[in-house]
Amino acid sequence: MTSRGLFWHRRDLRFSDNLTLAKAAAETPALTGVFFFDPECHSLKGKPSLAPAQRWFLFESLVELQQRWQNAGSRLLLFQGHAFQLLPRLAVALKIELVAWNRDLEPWARAQDREVARVLQSAGRKVLVDWDHLLLSPEVVQTDGGSPYRVYGPFLKKWRTRIQERRPITIQTPKTLKDLRSDEISALSKGELLGDLLVKCVARPPSDHGFQGVNLCPCRPGESAAQRQLQAFCDEGALLNYEQGRNIPGDEGTSALGAAFRFGTLSPRQAWSSAQSARVLARSEEELRSIQIWEQELVWREFYQHALFHFPELVNGPYRSSWLHFPWENNQQWFEAWRDGLTGIPIVDASMRQLQLSGWMHNRCRMIVASFLVKDLICDWQLGEKTFMEHLVDGDLAANNGGWQWSASSGMDPKPLRIFNPSIQAAKFDAEASYIRYWLPEIAHISTDDLIRGDIPALERRGYPEPLVNHKHQQARFKALYAGIRNQ
Ligand code: FAD
Repeated sequence: MTSRGLFWHRRDLRFSDNLTLAKAAAETPALTGVFFFDPECHSLKGKPSLAPAQRWFLFESLVELQQRWQNAGSRLLLFQGHAFQLLPRLAVALKIELVAWNRDLEPWARAQDREVARVLQSAGRKVLVDWDHLLLSPEVVQTDGGSPYRVYGPFLKKWRTRIQERRPITIQTPKTLKDLRSDEISALSKGELLGDLLVKCVARPPSDHGFQGVNLCPCRPGESAAQRQLQAFCDEGALLNYEQGRNIPGDEGTSALGAAFRFGTLSPRQAWSSAQSARVLARSEEELRSIQIWEQELVWREFYQHALFHFPELVNGPYRSSWLHFPWENNQQWFEAWRDGLTGIPIVDASMRQLQLSGWMHNRCRMIVASFLVKDLICDWQLGEKTFMEHLVDGDLAANNGGWQWSASSGMDPKPLRIFNPSIQAAKFDAEASYIRYWLPEIAHISTDDLIRGDIPALERRGYPEPLVNHKHQQARFKALYAGIRNQ
């Protein structure tokens, strides 16, 4: 039996159904949680900084996590500083023999984890790590020849076979843990134990997240909220109507669990298991189909995470090298108009205002605005990728990069060119313009047809801008530029 252990939380801000936490608790009940706030988010090479909406989500989720640790008889320590400096020092100061964490697949995190593990192990400490962020780890879903998949369709097929074989089950929650001694707690809070590093254990997460959209954001922080959200999504009809509902930005037809997956306030096993329970109760082919489509979205999530694991270079640029030579125009004024929801194209502007004001954007709208930035405004998709990360509450390196490369046509997706016509998209998915009216109140008085066409009479604009560009014209220009790189 190991005498004293530390569990390091990162993207798994939950106590229940946490694989490595449960394994560590089985090794020793004398287990203490730890989380590190990185003071300078860019100081680790390639680490994305947190959007204000994410800081809010993180801080609030940590408050609940602290409570969970306390309820189990131990505590979650919070530190300002870098894990790679502090964790080994903490292990020495508290005479820790076991340090455990769930693996992360972002390239900067993998580099950091290797280094932390090396330092701990070389000092004779036991390191316990496992995969918990995904239903199936990247080593498990590979082609018969042992290589990673590059296309979603075959990946999904193999993924389904593997999940049938493994049938994930929910993990036991640790119930009775042992806290640190009071002299250790007092030394930590006075900053004595870590001495010259001048770091202090903080009692609570900071509250200065700087996010203004708390009431508008559909993602709710904390483990309990994620459970409630999952249950409501499954029980109140959205899951069973997902095939239709997921495409209507004005409805609450999706789970809004993106941030819960991003920060691990919900485990993918719990989501998967709810979908399996819903299958048993489904009353029609349509309902079954809806559940299947939602499951496939969970697999899209896994696909992009696996892709980043196997091809970390994705974060630096296009997957298809021909796109390195695309002559982006990157008109700064156009880019800013897009970013600020002032392009004069209502469905695009409504979507970008949703992002700016609520920290979230509906998936259909993410595809529309991404296509518009790249294929109408001829701006590099990486500008859009960065803007999303600066605002999205569920901003995730792998999913965001995958979504942008898919939209730009520079990614793994075999379909060569995908161009969305904003008016057609609005007509199909916001037929009554209710979404546009909600996010663009200044033109809510305009008729539905005009809002969808983006044809606002000059005298009724009330400050709303004229369209920046003509879709047909820009589409032709984009295609001509694309012809130049297609055969490279
Ligand atoms: P639901 O429809 O309820 O789906 C359930 C879960 O499945 C989601 O929470 C998410 O974890 C996963 N999922 C669904 N669709 C996708 C997808 N296409 N790719 C990967 N995972 C998916 N998703 C992110 O989680 N983070 C991002 O930073 C992100 N950026 C995107 C950027 C672009 C340009 C595009 C086109 C898509 C992006 N997505 C991203 C995917 C998708 O838009 C969001 O996952 C989804 O809108 C989240 O809403 P939801 O939780 O209600 O999803």
